[in-house]
Amino acid sequence: MYEEFKERLESTISTGIIENELMNRHTTFKVGGPCSVFISPKKNEIPKAIKLCQEYDVPYIILGRGSNVLFSDKGYDGVVIEMGEANNDITVDDTVITAGAGATLAAVAMKAYENGLAGFEFASGIPGSIGGGLYMNAGAYGGEMKDVVVSAEAMDINGNLITLEREDMDLSYRHSAFMVRDLIVMSVTIRLNKGDKAEIKALMDDFNGRRRDKQPLNYPSAGSFFKRPEGNYAGKLIEDAGLAGLRVGGAAVSSKHCGFIINVDNATSDDIIELMKKVQNEVKKQFGVDLEPEVKFVGSF
Ligand SMILES: Cc1cc2nc3c(=O)[nH]c(=O)nc-3n(C[C@H](O)[C@H](O)[C@H](O)COP(=O)(O)OP(=O)(O)OC[C@H]3O[C@@H](n4cnc5c(N)ncnc54)[C@H](O)[C@@H]3O)c2cc1C
Repeated sequence: MYEEFKERLESTISTGIIENELMNRHTTFKVGGPCSVFISPKKNEIPKAIKLCQEYDVPYIILGRGSNVLFSDKGYDGVVIEMGEANNDITVDDTVITAGAGATLAAVAMKAYENGLAGFEFASGIPGSIGGGLYMNAGAYGGEMKDVVVSAEAMDINGNLITLEREDMDLSYRHSAFMVRDLIVMSVTIRLNKGDKAEIKALMDDFNGRRRDKQPLNYPSAGSFFKRPEGNYAGKLIEDAGLAGLRVGGAAVSSKHCGFIINVDNATSDDIIELMKKVQNEVKKQFGVDLEPEVKFVGSF
């Protein structure tokens, strides 16, 4: 049955399938064992791939640029559907930009700058895709996807394409209706404002400079590991708890930004999970605050 599934999937996806692909090659944490099958389908091939997964009862997951996920070292017994270069067209119409879900936030920000469009500078240094960015309602420096999105094309679990307007998306801090309704973001439309190119560039440079100053960008990570607790900052609580530099195996709490768990030396997924639990326990013990991970976990831990 499984061989038949793979054969049928392979004949559906023009770029082919990769078996036992290591997920550490596709995540910014550089952690993760093999998935059963890895595919990078074109947009029109995605419904067919999902239908096949459903027909054979094979689990699947959507991957953007892998910048907010932790895959288990045991891997993922299912199909990883990458939204990447096969779905990354960006078009501009006056102040409106529409991008395929796999377009990077950086590429969309660059396109906005080139066209003198302001309002997306906040996203230029977030290392994800625009599809993943909308799914997570990514944000930084006072801006978030919620502020700029107009609509999105999405696919439901039956393979139907639907359009969601912003008010249908239930966007709030690192939350969206796409998570709750199990929708795949296929493309995203944002509306920006006409602006001055030099000012747009200066703002992007400022934000990216602040990132370089404050974040451990020289180590693999998934960015801020924990969500911001109500009225507080995860990084500050972790620092105040005396956990800067705390290490488990190859994983460490960054001393530069305590909200980041970094892969300093071939960390395993278990190292990261154990470190996460130590941090959560200590912060709970000292401050009574529950830290909830922002990072999404895939596979069994
Ligand atoms: C150094 C660093 C800095 C970061 N800074 C920030 C920051 O300032 N602000 C911020 O918000 N985040 C930040 N992040 C986290 C991350 O970049 C964002 O959450 C980003 O939006 C994730 O996009 P992605 O394409 O990498 O998603 P992935 O990591 O590939 O996926 C994340 C989740 O989204 C789902 N997903 C991805 N694409 C789709 C799709 N098309 N349809 C449906 N589901 C999808 C996945 O299944 C998964 O559950 C940072 C990460 C790093 C490594």
